[in-house]
Amino acid sequence: MTGDRKKDGGKKVESPIEIKPVADQKQDDIEKRDPEAANELDPFFDLIMNDQLANNEFPTETYKEIVASDHQPMCVKHCNEELFNKLKDKKSLGKAQWTMARTINSGIQNPTSFVGCHVGDMESYDNFSEFWYPLIEEYHKGFIVNEPKREEISTAERFDINKLPKLSEEAKMRIVSTRIRCARNLADFPLNPGAPTAESRQQILELLEGVYSKLPKDFTGKLHKHEVMSEEEREGLVKAHFLFRGKDVMQAASGYHQFWPKGRGIFVREDQKFLNWINEGDHIRIISMEKSSDVEAVFERLGEGIRLVENGIREATNKKADESVFMFHPKLGSVTCCPSNLGSGLRGGVFLQIPNLLADQGFEAIDKMCREKYHCQIRGTGGEHSSPGAGGEVDVSNWRRIGFWEYELVTDMIVCVNALAEMEAELSGGEAVPDEDEPVVIVEAPKVEEAAPKVEEAAPKVEEAAPKVEEAAPAEVIDEFEEPDS
Ligand code: ADP
Ligand code: MG
Repeated sequence: MTGDRKKDGGKKVESPIEIKPVADQKQDDIEKRDPEAANELDPFFDLIMNDQLANNEFPTETYKEIVASDHQPMCVKHCNEELFNKLKDKKSLGKAQWTMARTINSGIQNPTSFVGCHVGDMESYDNFSEFWYPLIEEYHKGFIVNEPKREEISTAERFDINKLPKLSEEAKMRIVSTRIRCARNLADFPLNPGAPTAESRQQILELLEGVYSKLPKDFTGKLHKHEVMSEEEREGLVKAHFLFRGKDVMQAASGYHQFWPKGRGIFVREDQKFLNWINEGDHIRIISMEKSSDVEAVFERLGEGIRLVENGIREATNKKADESVFMFHPKLGSVTCCPSNLGSGLRGGVFLQIPNLLADQGFEAIDKMCREKYHCQIRGTGGEHSSPGAGGEVDVSNWRRIGFWEYELVTDMIVCVNALAEMEAELSGGEAVPDEDEPVVIVEAPKVEEAAPKVEEAAPKVEEAAPKVEEAAPAEVIDEFEEPDS
């Protein structure tokens, strides 16, 4: 996943830093900067510009190499030298004063990425519309930027579980877990890639800390801040598939990880079925998940959670009922740094066991079929670019985000899951994967109270207070690196 990002060299990096493939990284390495390279730029965390882009020039040679290779990030497909030169001296009219050079840096540095381009402010989407609109329409098939929007429906209707089709029995018996999340950015703060200092991220974390402390009783939980989290806390969160850990060259090349770990955190509800990621890339990822096939419960909880968080922010920032809490674009809906999440920001998925189908058709072919036929995709069980679980689990989720109501996107996922489960059933003669082969353990981090003694209680030594993580959460550790596409 490191791609060929060093082709054009990295600006200001004197001695090249070895970029280890994810699989070679020890857990200890995760989210820590290399102490020996403390004074150098770290490609896993710092924004390093391609040499030509840093001089506002088109990287012609690198571009040609990428075009000649067998994969092109979407930013390369949609930005040739002519368009770049036409737009290169423009600056977005938003807070970030974004440029085309910043827009495409990640994809040029990392040719293996899928999208490879990001914005630093909402205005960028319109100010560079010649680049963005066709790309957005290609990604979110069926959505046309300048077509009139569909007539609004209420939030309750958008999250109405009665509008969802049912999962088949074949599907239910093969589902390990369900996760639905949405991405949101706060209207009053700069998008993270365009933020000039750590301050806005820190202010967002503080603001949300206040919001979480006032959630109703059935939503109470703990905010884990990256800057102060203990090793035990961190490991527990990683093993439960809850933690985001930075250290991704693709995200770094878009400025997602700047000032790491300042302002980053994860809120986990007591029952671990509702989580928020704070400043991973977008300001907030609101996540509902559980170890079951109960898509309806997960979807309903997400709708409720979004409402509570939105209202909490509204109250904390003294916004009126008609003022937007979240960054909202009249044509593009909820604004996200990555074009793949625009609109609803919703990705609903299940871990589905399809070992026979994987053996029969292979990961790539199944993914292609899901995209072309069902507007869905498959990922491994450790996030993008990871591998399927040892029991043949894949993450099946909707691919589009914009132009469709939330229940329609979850419907896409259910229809696709039913189809895959039926194919799997045919190949397996109706047998589900035996329990003993089920390797993906999720939502089983040590309970928050056990893992991290509350600060007020302070004293007990960590060894006493925290059960050994291996005992509490025997999950295999799956690296969660991904491109910033999602
Ligand atoms: P996102 O689109 O939210 O960025 P990623 O693919 O990056 O999602 O995955 C984020 C994390 O959530 C990973 O650790 C992954 O293992 C976990 N995850 C994704 N889907 C599920 C699921 N259905 N059940 C449990 N964990 C999941
Ligand atoms: Mg992601």
